[in-house]
Amino acid sequence: MRGLFDFTRKIDYNREHGSRGVVVLNREKLLDGVLLLMLLGAACLLVYTAMQLSAVSSEKGSAAPVLIIDPGHGGIDGGAIAFDGTKESDINLAIALKLSELAGFCGVQSVLTRTDDSARTSYEAYSEHADLVYRTELANSIQNGVFLSIHQNFYPTSQPSGAQVLYAPGEQSRQFAEALQTLLVSQLQPSNRRLAEPAPKSLYLTAHVSCPAVLVECGFLSNLTDLDQLRQDTFQSSLAVVLLGAYLRCFGQTRALLCT
Ligand SMILES: [Zn+2]
Repeated sequence: MRGLFDFTRKIDYNREHGSRGVVVLNREKLLDGVLLLMLLGAACLLVYTAMQLSAVSSEKGSAAPVLIIDPGHGGIDGGAIAFDGTKESDINLAIALKLSELAGFCGVQSVLTRTDDSARTSYEAYSEHADLVYRTELANSIQNGVFLSIHQNFYPTSQPSGAQVLYAPGEQSRQFAEALQTLLVSQLQPSNRRLAEPAPKSLYLTAHVSCPAVLVECGFLSNLTDLDQLRQDTFQSSLAVVLLGAYLRCFGQTRALLCT
């Protein structure tokens, strides 16, 4: 195979020539490829950083940690609904699926609590409580799990914006939440002044999941800027990179070796 760079003329990347083995890249595909490479590069950089920092000393025995990815809501429960009809459950799922794919790429074991737009239940009839019980029982059945619940925020007025991480009781949950909040701010939202906070006791998942657990509100569906970003495929991918980076920083000392 031979590569040829022609700097003598402008090329319309939308045209493709297949004759005599000459290929001109389609501009959109080229941009997609560049974006993917940037994201993978960023992911590997975060993994490398995670190796250097290893912020949390994880005394977890020999089993590798398992990232339990929980896209909030689903099915009959759309969660918060933006003014344009965007459902929180759809945004949560899109980010979760990207995170799962990226985790697999980096050799990180992960489990999703749902993979499509359907409700979950531990009983025959659906209820919000039954859905939460299902997710909790799944999380508590996994050895050495780390629970990451993905949600979007909503407020009656449009002003509040920015991501915020809530954490379950326990030092590992707190450190994971703080690493995640720090990365969200430094990589995606430099003007965000929110801090990671303990989850209220009324939050069922963080109160009942027995492994380290955090819940991330990635942004406000009631804020136009946040909504516009959260709907974008590229921003969702960036969020997935940051979520995985924070996980690896805290729990990925052994798995991080893949990207060196
Ligand atoms: Zn939610």
